[in-house]
Amino acid sequence: MRAASLFRERFGGEPDGVWLAPGRANLMGEHTDYNDGFVLPFALGQGVTAAAGIAAGSGSPGGRRLTLCSRQEPDTVVEVPLDGLAPGQVTGWAAYPAGVAWALEAAGYPVPDACVAIDSDLPVGAGLSSSAALECATELALTALAGCDVPRADLVTIARRAENEFVGVPTGVMDQSASLRCQAGHALLLDCRSLELAQVPFDPGAAGAALLLVNTRARHSLSDGEYGRRRAECEEAARRLGVPSLRSITDPAEVERLDDPVLRRRARHVVADDQRVLEVVALLRSLPGSSGSPGAAAGSSAAAAGSAGAAGAYGEIGRLLSQAHASLRDDFEVSWPEADVAVEAALAAGAAGARMIGGGFGGSVLALAPSASLDAVRDAITSAFAERAWTAPEFLSATPADAARRLV
Ligand code: ADP
Ligand code: MG
Repeated sequence: MRAASLFRERFGGEPDGVWLAPGRANLMGEHTDYNDGFVLPFALGQGVTAAAGIAAGSGSPGGRRLTLCSRQEPDTVVEVPLDGLAPGQVTGWAAYPAGVAWALEAAGYPVPDACVAIDSDLPVGAGLSSSAALECATELALTALAGCDVPRADLVTIARRAENEFVGVPTGVMDQSASLRCQAGHALLLDCRSLELAQVPFDPGAAGAALLLVNTRARHSLSDGEYGRRRAECEEAARRLGVPSLRSITDPAEVERLDDPVLRRRARHVVADDQRVLEVVALLRSLPGSSGSPGAAAGSSAAAAGSAGAAGAYGEIGRLLSQAHASLRDDFEVSWPEADVAVEAALAAGAAGARMIGGGFGGSVLALAPSASLDAVRDAITSAFAERAWTAPEFLSATPADAARRLV
């Protein structure tokens, strides 16, 4: 419990509690969120922990403050005055937790004079949503300290508002939804138009498969400007097709009506990726043990048939992952060399499929492989990076885990 020991070191005394919020990987549906489409994230075992307590001397005349430190930012303790807090007043990493305090108060939830110590085992800026994990861990801590019971759907909105309006990053609703609403052994199907969500059983291990995350450690400076440009291109494509958003297009042939070749490629990716999310969901729901499927019936032959079916379904999901990567690389043009090389090396070493995840131009790759091939996949990617004299990649295991919760 390293967040709790940091709390003791920095603030003295015991925290009132410790909360954990996970990072996430997105199985399918990239750049679909702001097109009102579908995404399918799952929570990771890795996340951000917040050890928090009401500040000693709380209620004294100096006004309420949030006092923050992070093991990943060892040289700073940041004090944020809470009275009159407004966007623009806090910069750097503390803007995320401060933004949560601001958005909670704007939503009518009081924030107490509190000390919060942060620790994390998520790589930062690797597309695994350390920012939302930081927000959500802080949010659970502050609402619990205040004795407020806030519905999870509202916590999602509040944390997103912190990131969009206080930090100033125009992200969609996926990251906070994943951190706050996922369930272990499931992926979360999120309809970004209606905000409806559904839990989809997702247990690759039961089918002899495993997920591997590869932090390519690359971040290309293009990322911010290009993200805005893609959003604008998608809006323009929808406008020319006469629909409110690209989500409304379900027949891929319709996209071919666009005269502009760039807009056509962008729309082709979004429409196809929405379809791929639904295909992955249908495959997962067809598996034994999933509700609506025949179930993992007793008896060895039924179980064997079930696991053969599962292997087939995971092979198909792998194929869709690789297809999505090609679409992000060629049609949406947001991949980066390290991701392309990691995907190729993974496939050559026996992975069922792999793709870049996140907005693009840096971050991580998600690979799905038979468990027996995992070491070979890791070795192949390590060698491919070494041959090019690139910084060695970082590997993380990815097991669909539970949403944010109190630990202590
Ligand atoms: P991602 O969410 O993909 O990891 P972002 O750029 O959205 O990348 O968010 C990363 C930012 O979140 C960091 O630059 C930092 O400001 C903040 N952050 C994340 N984790 C921590 C942490 N453990 N301590 C302090 N700040 C953190
Ligand atoms: Mg982020």
